[in-house]
Amino acid sequence: MNPWFGKAIILASSVVMVLIRAPHGQRSRGVKVVRNRRGALEIVLLTLAWVAFLVPLVWVAAPVFAFADYPLRPVPLSAGIGCLAVGLWLFARSHADLGTNWSITLEMREKHQLVTHGVYRVLRHPMYSALLLYSLGQALVVPNWIAGPSYAVAMSLLCAFRLGPEERMMLEAFGKDYEAYMVRTKRLVPGIW
Ligand code: SAH
Repeated sequence: MNPWFGKAIILASSVVMVLIRAPHGQRSRGVKVVRNRRGALEIVLLTLAWVAFLVPLVWVAAPVFAFADYPLRPVPLSAGIGCLAVGLWLFARSHADLGTNWSITLEMREKHQLVTHGVYRVLRHPMYSALLLYSLGQALVVPNWIAGPSYAVAMSLLCAFRLGPEERMMLEAFGKDYEAYMVRTKRLVPGIW
């Protein structure tokens, strides 16, 4: 198949992702941060996530990664489109449910509330599930050994290093309420983990 199918899809989904996040990023700048846990590791992980998000766009625009291309096939392309669509839907839902409590990093905001409704009723980290699903979709849709899996690698590292500290921060802030919330929810995969 023509790799331009993959290129068009990855361009469109990247734009949708930025559009979903933009209003939340803008609004969160107006809500005071009362506690910040952004250490050196967080800065490395966030930088890696940004670079990994941009790598497929570089692949679309220039032939720098052409040596790692392979043929695009209809089955991975279709599966990838499915993952991207569900990932983007969950990304939008989790942003809407978190509202002003959202932060790009480990932070507590003024009047921070524990969100347990909407997609947070089932999962503690639906936004990270959304990003992992999206990154899997990207790996399937981008027929290149570097640009395809780049975001999946970055998101897996981010989740591996952030879930524990984030849950500890939430436990410190919300104590027994978060403990009870942990008992009745899973981290990333509904009903499993
Ligand atoms: N881990 C969550 C949220 C990602 S945004 C998810 O994947 O959906 C990261 C910020 O959200 C954290 O710094 C924390 O301040 C906030 N947060 C995480 N879980 C929350 C919850 N249940 N209620 C309110 N804020 C939450």
